[in-house]
Amino acid sequence: MEKFIDLTNKVALVTGASRGIGRETALTLAKAGSNVVVNYSKSEEQAKELVDKLNSLGSKAIAIRADVHAEDQVIEMINKIVLEFETIDILVNNAGITRDSLIARMSISDWEDVLNVCLKGAFLCSKYVSRIMIRKRSGAIVNISSVAGVRGNPGQVNYSSAKAGLIGLTKSLARELAPRGVRVNAIAPGYIKTELTDRLSETVREKILKATPLGYLGETKDVANSVLFLVSDLARYITGHVLLVDGGMGM
Ligand code: NAD
Repeated sequence: MEKFIDLTNKVALVTGASRGIGRETALTLAKAGSNVVVNYSKSEEQAKELVDKLNSLGSKAIAIRADVHAEDQVIEMINKIVLEFETIDILVNNAGITRDSLIARMSISDWEDVLNVCLKGAFLCSKYVSRIMIRKRSGAIVNISSVAGVRGNPGQVNYSSAKAGLIGLTKSLARELAPRGVRVNAIAPGYIKTELTDRLSETVREKILKATPLGYLGETKDVANSVLFLVSDLARYITGHVLLVDGGMGM
């Protein structure tokens, strides 16, 4: 049967892909036919397990360890990908961390760690991948921001600053790369069931559900399907857009 979205022969790099939204995105892109590079920073076992699964789906997959905020490691990762696949067509800047606390108690390292992974990481990966995309005059980048970057969230000045920064990066880069045939978009998820949100207390969870018009937490596939749409030709006229995938929370 002909695929509605066909990413056969494309090469996708998904950062922080060993679990959660990144893992689901890697699986979704592979099911659409894409070859996938699984970037991870620590969990080698999970990354290898995912690569086996992706390969069993018929796409070619490899795992590469790299901290997205370390420039030398990002350069080395991109070089390895080009050696293996010759190109990169899709970049999903998904790697992210939280270090929540009220500002009075927030340490400099809580601030810097989050800004480094969420924002500097996306900057570095976009910088080196866009060079490849510019040369071939095609490509799609999706940055995973957050509804916290759109609306703000108490206890998350570091995270919401980084995620708001990602929206600025998305729009500026979209304008910069549009003449070169490269599209750049962002997704701002609301609360999605993953290990990141499993740690929330019952009270916080109830508050979130109250603030979510659809009345339930999202699933990783809700974000992954949105990534699939944005990187596909169905979204060929969409760039610089921030797609809220949040059950209506951010409207
Ligand atoms: P997660 O913690 O399960 O996944 C984050 C991934 O990033 C992990 O695999 C982690 O190992 C990786 N990572 C962390 N530091 C890294 C580094 N230096 N280099 C490379 N990889 C690194 O969380 P998730 O819920 O799947 O979140 C994925 C993305 O979605 C994050 O950017 C997060 O901020 C964003 N997001 C999540 C939610 C949610 O409700 N889960 C909501 C909004 C936005």
